This record gives sequence, structure tokens and C-alpha cells, in this order.
Amino acid sequence: MRAAWAAIDLAALSDNIDVIREEAGARKILAVLKANAYGHGLIRIAQELHDVDAIGVARLEEALELRAAGISRPIVLLEGFFAEDQLPMLAASNIQPVIHHRWQVNAVLSIQDLPEPLKVWLKVDTGMHRLGVEPNEAERWFKALTESNNVASSPILMSHLACADEPEHEKNEQQLAYFSSLVASLKPEATSIANSGALFARLGQSHDWVRPGLAMYGISPFLQDNKALSPRLKQLRPVMKLCADLISTRDIKKGDSVGYGSAWTTSRDTRIGIVAIGYGDGYPRLAPQGTPVWIDGKRYPLVARVAMDMVTVDLGPGSTMEPGKTAELWGPNLPVEEIAQHVGTVAYELLCNVARRVTLVY
Ligand SMILES: *Cc1c(COP(=O)(O)O)cnc(C)c1O
Repeated sequence: MRAAWAAIDLAALSDNIDVIREEAGARKILAVLKANAYGHGLIRIAQELHDVDAIGVARLEEALELRAAGISRPIVLLEGFFAEDQLPMLAASNIQPVIHHRWQVNAVLSIQDLPEPLKVWLKVDTGMHRLGVEPNEAERWFKALTESNNVASSPILMSHLACADEPEHEKNEQQLAYFSSLVASLKPEATSIANSGALFARLGQSHDWVRPGLAMYGISPFLQDNKALSPRLKQLRPVMKLCADLISTRDIKKGDSVGYGSAWTTSRDTRIGIVAIGYGDGYPRLAPQGTPVWIDGKRYPLVARVAMDMVTVDLGPGSTMEPGKTAELWGPNLPVEEIAQHVGTVAYELLCNVARRVTLVY
């Protein structure tokens, strides 16, 4: 028997990239691999990429790990650099920072002796109000960066949508209009705004680079179906199947309580099963009673508290199930989006939280 592992379906990854490529058409693809490729394993996923134009990560450490593994595609640092002394390393390794604040512009303009000019992306705040230079300063910074000898050619202009997963939200049109007006006045060589949500909701299609993360892993960012969505969305297949074996079963009597805090008491005689995965593996501790677990072609409800190393399922009265079966916690039979809804979070968080002790099996 085996404790928690995640089966990573590389054929599904490859097919998802094909779907994204079809949806993106002639646009360029920045494949987003931050947070250990959303829990799927940074290096292996990077090695499997095809037909994408660059890789996006959030942290310098991730970018350097990719370079150390021999990955040669351009890498974009989506959160930019954190300190000026990182700039020579970025320039030497073709790592392209997103510049989202005035202090970063000043750092790039003033640094001496870069080994190579930097390729940079300039992020403007069009309404997310998190990262991005002020739109009324964008022109000034764009020009200064374009003219600087420290910068190779001119920055790619980018922004980020706050509500792309709700295609009908009025904020989308506002942000897109704002971004388009900036593009019209600055005339950058290239532009980018779409994450997975915007790509499959077909928002901002005139911009040059798309930046899909979640969709590549076969997950939909949308909570509700919507007629504006691309029909290609349905072709995506989950890449991760999170599994663990059933290591114990036992029959319990009506009125027996199970697990920490005796938080669950059975209202009938039944058989329960113990699956070797817990919050130490990244399975959410707050998964409530009734969250489905897939065993042997059927859904069973989670009961009792999620512990560090195990969870309990109610196999039902009369069950003859014995240890040794494999449970799927999420994957092709049990969409991670659905598990996230039970837990009150998003699929992104569940994927990223898969812990180091979970073996990734490709
Ligand atoms: C994470 C991230 C993305 C990818 O978002 P998904 O919703 O996973 O497609 C795109 N752009 C930026 C700037 C990001 O930080």
C-alpha cells in the first residue's frame, strides 16, 4: 500500500497546451509555472512544455532553479525583482522582470555595469489596485525605460484583470478599455493582459501575449458556466490525480465517535475506511463532512476531522471493502474545483498546497 502520491498525467498537460495554443491563435504564450507549477513539479513540467514562448514564475529562486536544470526558454518574473542587487543576475540569465513600481524603474535606470541589457515588462495598474505603476506615470516610465541603455528594446506593456473569472463583471470592460487607451498612446511593441480566465472568456483578444496558469493544469477558473466562454474550455483535462490508499477499515456501531475531538458520531452501524492522506500532505484540514472521496468507482463522504496523516470516509452499512483500495481525493473523477467549493477555497490553493512529502509520479 502507498501513502499519498500525485499522479501527473503528462499527456493531459500536452493536450491542454494544444487546446491553449488553438485558443490563443497567433498570440504568444507565457506558461505560468509559479508555486512549483501549481504543485505539479516545476522542473518536470518545464521540461514537458512545447509550443509555448516563455515561462512565468513569481520568485527569482524559481527562475534560477529552472536555469540550473538547463531550461533555456525566456523566463518572466511576474512579481519583479525584490532588490536592486538581483539585476545583474537577471540580465546574465535572460530572466525578464515585471516592473510594477517606481522604485524598480529607478533601480533599472540607475544600476551600473549590467552584463547585458535587461528585457523588461512594465505593469500598469488598470483597476486591480495591487501591483502596477500608476497609469498617469506609465508614459514617463515607459519612455525612460525605452531610452535606457540598461534595457533591451522597449518594455512589454502588461496589466492584470481583477474579475476575469466572472466574464460578465463590469470591471473587465473598464480595465480593458483603460489598457487599450494606454496601448494606443504608448504604442509598445507588445502587450499582455489575459490569464486563463480572460483567455477562455475571450477578453482582451487583441493583446499579444496570453499568460495561462490554471488552464494548463486542466482546471477551469470559472465557478459558473457562461455562454461567453470558449467551447474549448471543455476539452481541458485535469493533470493531477491526488491519491492515497485505504490502509484500514472497521465496523462501528451507532453512537460511536471517530477521530479527534470525537467530532463525528455515526447515526447508524456502518463501516468506515481510513485513507493515508492528511493535512500534512496538503489535503485541506477544513474539508467538511460530506466532501467526496472517490474509491472503486464511487463517491464516499468524508467524515470526522482531517488529521495530519489520514482522513476517514464512511463506506456505509454492509460495506465489505477491505484495505488496499486506492482513493482519489481529486483528479479526473473528482474535479478539484468541486473539492475547493466544499472547502470554501479555490482550486489554485489546493493544488499549490500539495506538500513535499507527496511523491509526484509522472
Ligand atoms: C499567476 C498569474 C497568471 C496565471 O493565472 P491563471 O489564473 O492561473 O491563469 C497570469 N498572470 C499573472 C501576472 C499571474 O501572477
